[in-house]
Amino acid sequence: MEIGLDASMPTYAGGLGMLAADLMRSAADKGVAAACVTICWQHGYMRQHIRADGTQSYENVDWNPSDHLHKLEPVVSVTIEGKEVKVGVWEYRIDSAEHSVPVYFLDTNIEGNTPEDCAITEHLYGGDGVMRLKQEVVLGIAGVRMLRALGYEDVRTYHMNEGHAAFLTLELLKEREYKNENVRSSCAFTTHTPVAAGHDVFPYDMAQRVVGDMLPWHIRDLAGQDALNMTLLAMHLSRYTCGVSRIHGAISRRMFPGESIDYITNGIHPATWACPEMQHLFDRVMPGWREHPLLLEQKCRDLPPEELWHAHQEAKSRLIAYVNQHTDRPFSQDVLTIATARRVVPYKRPELLYTNLDRLREVCGGRVQIIHAGNAHPNDPFSQEVIQRIVERAKELKDSVNVVYLENYNPTLAKMLVSGTDVWLNTPTRQHEASGTSGMKACLNGVLNLSSLDGWWIEAFDIDPEAGWRIGPLAEALGPEEYRKIDAEDLYTQLQYEVIHEYYYKERKRWIRCMMRAIGLIGRFNTHRCIDEYLEKAWKR
Ligand SMILES: *Cc1c(COP(=O)(O)O)cnc(C)c1O
Repeated sequence: MEIGLDASMPTYAGGLGMLAADLMRSAADKGVAAACVTICWQHGYMRQHIRADGTQSYENVDWNPSDHLHKLEPVVSVTIEGKEVKVGVWEYRIDSAEHSVPVYFLDTNIEGNTPEDCAITEHLYGGDGVMRLKQEVVLGIAGVRMLRALGYEDVRTYHMNEGHAAFLTLELLKEREYKNENVRSSCAFTTHTPVAAGHDVFPYDMAQRVVGDMLPWHIRDLAGQDALNMTLLAMHLSRYTCGVSRIHGAISRRMFPGESIDYITNGIHPATWACPEMQHLFDRVMPGWREHPLLLEQKCRDLPPEELWHAHQEAKSRLIAYVNQHTDRPFSQDVLTIATARRVVPYKRPELLYTNLDRLREVCGGRVQIIHAGNAHPNDPFSQEVIQRIVERAKELKDSVNVVYLENYNPTLAKMLVSGTDVWLNTPTRQHEASGTSGMKACLNGVLNLSSLDGWWIEAFDIDPEAGWRIGPLAEALGPEEYRKIDAEDLYTQLQYEVIHEYYYKERKRWIRCMMRAIGLIGRFNTHRCIDEYLEKAWKR
């Protein structure tokens, strides 16, 4: 449904789109015969502006697809609400040294469609249930028809990346005599959210109105008796289903009892997320790391400590310079810097750090500077108020702890943050973060994670508990409110006795050794390894 290939193409909203791009970059690097189908959103990612009082505005990013994409000839049609809608297509190619993976962007904003139909591909995650259904008909049904029009007949695996794409099974059912088994044998599915409300569910009367005859007679057996659940539809017509981390696989099996759900832990594309200084260093010390990210694990201890520290300082000074253009409280190169940036939603607990301001002052006063970034949903006043409160906290704390909220979190800012900070903070409520990938980007750049044990960090912490710090107990049995109290207290304790202590009062070489271990983790948490696992478990037949 979204892909974030380029900061100037707002065809994504957040992590799901960033991940899709990284996976396809690795597919291109590895020469996998893959093609990607998505939608040419006129408006996806929105530009955030934060005013001095912390209130925000969100505006559409204007872009012209023809500046980035190549228009192709084919036009297919689908029936939506009983009327024919035409769907055109643009092509983008992800080029690697020897291979390239095409990405097809479906577009209803074309000649011959009514203004109403043109609007289907206007706003990513923008409309109501009916609009979402229309968009998913375009992605799934028109997606398969477009592949046929482009000459893709013999496809080994249709991989649904999240339930949004599940209607592709309806077109396959129609092509294959409505036999489930004929469809199951060529589909695979990845679910991305551990939260029940994150799965698309539509009332059947609405679905009947929008999707019409394409809904097969036995849709309730496939997609749920009471309502059309896209996750169930995808799962029941796939030969392989997975979640995106070990814990997410387990949660998904609990959420869908009786289903067979494996996991393939997410990763990042190393060549995309290493800052220039780290790229140069890696090129010299571990040549071939881009093609063989396992070298990051095998060779991370060969990185010369002084040069690693220096590379990090360069990235840090770039970030500090950027921050200082956006705040009148100057940040310093020599102060321990903690950054935390992600989409603002309650489960990520962006205010955990501010649970006890006196304690925060006592622990961090004069010794820590804090950078926040992250967009709220334009229609979500609660999350916008969270940002506003953090901006207020920054004012309250200004005499002891420097805090800044940077506006407009996007991949460019993300790269500057994950390479330029010293510590990457992540505080999700346990069992709510499917995987998370920004912490991996930090590791790759020698930035140490301080994170609650959730998503990928559980696995990373199992592999190497010395590569960063955990927040909160190992136990898994508490309720969210108990966890919030314990985690907040533990966050201060970790900062005081571990992070700050190591940074200022222990030998620098100990910190640098942790940086190497963090880089080593990306020998595993990269999308080349994901693609290998997908090939082995999901895409072979
Ligand atoms: C990596 C990235 C994300 C996803 O990070 P999470 O750890 O899943 O929050 C979201 N947005 C941008 C711009 C990113 O670069």
